[in-house]
Amino acid sequence: MNLIQTVTGPIHPNDLGIVSLHEHVYSGGEPALYADREDHSDFPHWDAPITIDILGALRRGAPNRQNSSLNDEGIAAEELGHFAAHGGRTVVDNTGVGLSRDPEALRRIAEATGLNIITTTGFYKHAMHPPWVGRMTADQVADLMVTEIEEGIDGTGIRAGSIGECACSEDPLPYHPEEEKILRAACRAQIRTGVGFTIHPSIFDAVRGGIATVGEAYVDLIEQEGADLDSFYLSHCDLSLDHLDYHRRLLDRGITISYDTFGYEGTNLPGFLGGCRMPGDIERVNAIAALCREGYDRQIVMAQDVGMRMLWKRYGGSGYSLVLEWAVPLLRTRGVTESQIHNMLVENPKRILTPAAGR
Ligand SMILES: [Zn+2]
Repeated sequence: MNLIQTVTGPIHPNDLGIVSLHEHVYSGGEPALYADREDHSDFPHWDAPITIDILGALRRGAPNRQNSSLNDEGIAAEELGHFAAHGGRTVVDNTGVGLSRDPEALRRIAEATGLNIITTTGFYKHAMHPPWVGRMTADQVADLMVTEIEEGIDGTGIRAGSIGECACSEDPLPYHPEEEKILRAACRAQIRTGVGFTIHPSIFDAVRGGIATVGEAYVDLIEQEGADLDSFYLSHCDLSLDHLDYHRRLLDRGITISYDTFGYEGTNLPGFLGGCRMPGDIERVNAIAALCREGYDRQIVMAQDVGMRMLWKRYGGSGYSLVLEWAVPLLRTRGVTESQIHNMLVENPKRILTPAAGR
């Protein structure tokens, strides 16, 4: 039986319960997002503490140091408490290598909350790759990922339980050559370990304008490498929910799509969305209900991708519990059945996270 690695040790797949597959719980140190800058003087809100006076600016994308770093174990635990209070059991923290990932902090948060927390191995966009990755081959990156999965991360003995989020930037679409290397490494590490994996796709198409719909290129790459499509989920698909036929094409190729930016309604982050439209949460609900009516409930998962402090409840966001607290009751009113909800919250994450030999 292949167990699933959490930051507090291995667990049986049946103990995962309700899973949020794409979150961020803790990141230490300086914000990785603006690490390439020494001078933040053109960011008027950079050093301001988060108060209601600047929340509007932050929700429109103004860079802010405190917003960019989830470096508070106490608040993280308190915020996860809302998820637990609504029945949540397991959280995957997709903060990969080079993003101030801290498995020991995650372990303390898991102990404080009683939740299962799964940490990951993977690399975000090219601009945020640690410089040493550029000197490695895809197979060497795969070796590093396998070491983090089978032995542990940075000598902590805490093992990654999943691969993510491997991110693709927008220039060029659908991935930079260095990002392609990471994606191929992720596939090879997935084959060797059987764990789940996810890609953060290119979000917008700056040349043609509009939201990017390049997910099939990632499915092509995964198929070429021979990794397990049943263990894969494509993150952030709800950002392209205006193109449901695109989602149907992805689903018909056998992957799971992740509606994981519940709670981003009302934010407008140009650096993230390239000036495209942030969908409303009710649109996320309606799109999922439509896809469930068509029988796709075994290939959909939901989360909140809480990656900035303004998404925590304490700073005016809706936190880690919006799906359980608000979206699930609304899905019921739209005819989504209990078994479909159970598939999206429990069974699909279990299939993705359980190494194939243990399924
Ligand atoms: Zn994320």
